[in-house]
Amino acid sequence: MSSPTTPKIAVIGSGPSGCYLAQSLLRAVPSCEITVLDRLASPFGLVRYGVATDHQHTKAITRQFDRLFQHEAVRFAGGIEVGRDVSLAQLRELFDAVVIATGLTADRELGIPGAELPGVIGAGAITRALNAHPDEGARLPQLGSDVVVIGGGNVALDVLRFLVKDRDAYEGSDIADELLDSYLEAPAARVTLVSRSAAADFKGDPQMLKELAALPRAAYASPDPVDPGPDAQLDRAAAGRVAAISEMIAASRPRFDGPEVTLRFGLTPLRVLGEHRVEGVEFTAGDQVVVVPATAVVTAIGFAARKDHALAALTASGAETGRIEPGLYRTGWAKRGPRGAIPENRACAKEVADEIAADLADGSLPASPSTLGFEGLPAEVRDRAIGYEQWLRLDEHERSVAPSGRVRHKLPDHDRMIAIARGA
Ligand SMILES: Cc1cc2nc3c(=O)[nH]c(=O)nc-3n(C[C@H](O)[C@H](O)[C@H](O)COP(=O)(O)OP(=O)(O)OC[C@H]3O[C@@H](n4cnc5c(N)ncnc54)[C@H](O)[C@@H]3O)c2cc1C
Repeated sequence: MSSPTTPKIAVIGSGPSGCYLAQSLLRAVPSCEITVLDRLASPFGLVRYGVATDHQHTKAITRQFDRLFQHEAVRFAGGIEVGRDVSLAQLRELFDAVVIATGLTADRELGIPGAELPGVIGAGAITRALNAHPDEGARLPQLGSDVVVIGGGNVALDVLRFLVKDRDAYEGSDIADELLDSYLEAPAARVTLVSRSAAADFKGDPQMLKELAALPRAAYASPDPVDPGPDAQLDRAAAGRVAAISEMIAASRPRFDGPEVTLRFGLTPLRVLGEHRVEGVEFTAGDQVVVVPATAVVTAIGFAARKDHALAALTASGAETGRIEPGLYRTGWAKRGPRGAIPENRACAKEVADEIAADLADGSLPASPSTLGFEGLPAEVRDRAIGYEQWLRLDEHERSVAPSGRVRHKLPDHDRMIAIARGA
């Protein structure tokens, strides 16, 4: 039950960092009342809209977050965008503390000549589209026959897996089938995955490489050295990567009639070639220049704040503390920059929850009797906010209309999501 001295805390963003933060706050400040706002009607951020649709075991973390939203002191307020429906200043007046947990959604720019040509596509746009994110309008950008993927991290591997996988391999996923089908009507014939690092220093998870190696479709090759030799000092992960890549490109591996995948290591992109649209990419490899023809270039080189995001100026990359000032904090990718898997946001959230608890305890953040929290928001905002029970209705709907072999059918139309959540 709320009392005048109950600290009221607003968390902007219901991705893993916002959810972990709310969990940690319940422990660090047991008397608090938390409102988790999200611009979308659905919670969970990139767990729903980034994590690959065929990695449902990773998406299962939402069960833990479901328990969070069932807690009486936690409220979900979906469909409310801070900076559009309510301002940060308003939230700061109504809540004792506000925490920015908005993640970073813009694909980092390639920053080389030609990068603005049509056909240069951010990996985030593709992974969002396959996850039916309402911002992508249920469309997959045209990729064509020769796709170059630039980047060597897990997101690049998610994109590669999509490019080489056939329909049957999506059993149990929540992929946007219309987009999958449109891609498989004319799938890429050749894919080149280009990493700046050597194979051993490639950032991708060895497990993800093993998963690719086990897929019965693509044919893999690499003209670059993969194994640095017996004298190289490789840690376990690097040794795992080298082993998995060596297995993928082994001459003994059965050949399949899917896309021909070339893995390139130690190449730095120099410029994107093309007059009206992408035609290729020029890379440097030591003192050599390598040109790879391309109908599309997918950049998987990290994420950044969207320039038009209302809170962009308050996000940081690698900030040491979550505290911007007493009463205003940030956590997750909005604090640390676009690095780290879901579990890393948990430790980050705990630290920030402890900072808030410390500020409340030492008096630098007095819980004010005049803060009203969610109840103080304008009536039209409160009425519009999608509550957790309404999300459960939408969740149930998505599961109930899932086609055979899919765990859910996500609606790409946000207005429709809201209508269903409201029971319309
Ligand atoms: C393509 C991709 C695949 C990934 N795959 C994996 C994986 O398989 N395994 C793994 O462990 N990690 C994976 N990650 C990393 C993981 O998703 C991140 O570590 C994590 O999501 C970061 O959490 P966050 O809460 O900081 O941001 P996000 O998950 O981005 O959540 C931010 C939330 O804030 C909301 N929001 C933004 N702006 C506003 C606003 N103005 N008002 C209200 N709400 C707002 C958004 O709608 C969103 O719900 C992946 C990341 C990407 C990009």
